[in-house]
Amino acid sequence: MSDVPVVHGAFGPRQPLPIRVGPLIGESTGSFVNRLAHGQGLHLDELLTRVGFGQASRDVQRVRAYPQITEMYVNPLGLEYLATLSGLSVRALRDALPSLEQRHLLPEGKEAVWKWPWTSREGHLVPLCSGCRLSLGVRETAWMISPGRWRICARHLEWTDDSRSGESTAVSLERVPEAVPAWQQGELLRRQFGAAGGQLFADAFQVAVYWWTHLPDTERWVQRAWSAGLEARNVRAAPVVVLPEAARLAQRMVDFEQLDEQSRSAREKWLAGVQRDMAVWDVDTCVGRQPLLAWLQRHHGRPPRSGPLGSSRREQPASGLRLPGGHERNAQLVWALGEFSCLPWHLGQPACSM
Ligand SMILES: [Zn+2]
Repeated sequence: MSDVPVVHGAFGPRQPLPIRVGPLIGESTGSFVNRLAHGQGLHLDELLTRVGFGQASRDVQRVRAYPQITEMYVNPLGLEYLATLSGLSVRALRDALPSLEQRHLLPEGKEAVWKWPWTSREGHLVPLCSGCRLSLGVRETAWMISPGRWRICARHLEWTDDSRSGESTAVSLERVPEAVPAWQQGELLRRQFGAAGGQLFADAFQVAVYWWTHLPDTERWVQRAWSAGLEARNVRAAPVVVLPEAARLAQRMVDFEQLDEQSRSAREKWLAGVQRDMAVWDVDTCVGRQPLLAWLQRHHGRPPRSGPLGSSRREQPASGLRLPGGHERNAQLVWALGEFSCLPWHLGQPACSM
């Protein structure tokens, strides 16, 4: 039962804490409660003990030690307590904190429950960009519930991830500015082609992951890693360093999907085009064509297209891109993107098993 702290016979808090702390939109509940405690000059466990969550504080040591790992969940009464403590309405809290949504609430009971499992049920705990945070007047790390395992702030050129290693999680992209438009291209493709655009970007990213894993000493990637202050062979560096090539390849993939026919000669022509890019990037074409062949094998021979290209309404597969199935099936922990790719390997996997 240690995971389900229960407040025995508690009457609950009656008044807000003296110092108000506002939740950030998209923040993890654990992060908010932690900041709420710090706002009062208390550690999290002290806050919970004082407000009658004695059992809850059993798990708090680890929250205090590993804010990058744990998230906090509440039952309806626990939510009411939290609203009272923070001086906000339940509605306002829920509007800001994703883990308080109805589907994440713990079972109702006569007692308030605050639970701190080791992983978030949905999304990843990724710090908010330090520039954004400071502009909101927040002085300590704020953990966000992020759909992906990393975030890029285009405004402050900062990259953060859900690294659990305890390394500093913020990476400045000031010396790798090309990563930002590359990342934005993924958004652009999603806007332009709906889900299919996102899936192609994921496929391109997966191919780039394959390249990076087999050819980590490729000069441009080593240079970018160093520029970002990361070790070249560190898996954490991979998403940042391969994004520009992935973005270019994604456009090539879109071009392929827009071909009127995907005959053998059309495929060879396309492959030759990508290989010219690879030559420019100094990516060994012999190794580098393997994942491209795997991709082509999955992507050629789609049924005849209906409707004009790119004339799409959002989220409609008929956005001009009709991809084969398998893009959701290989769900896996490949940062954010691999989850939407049809290519089955994942970042961090040894080259020999890809
Ligand atoms: Zn920012």
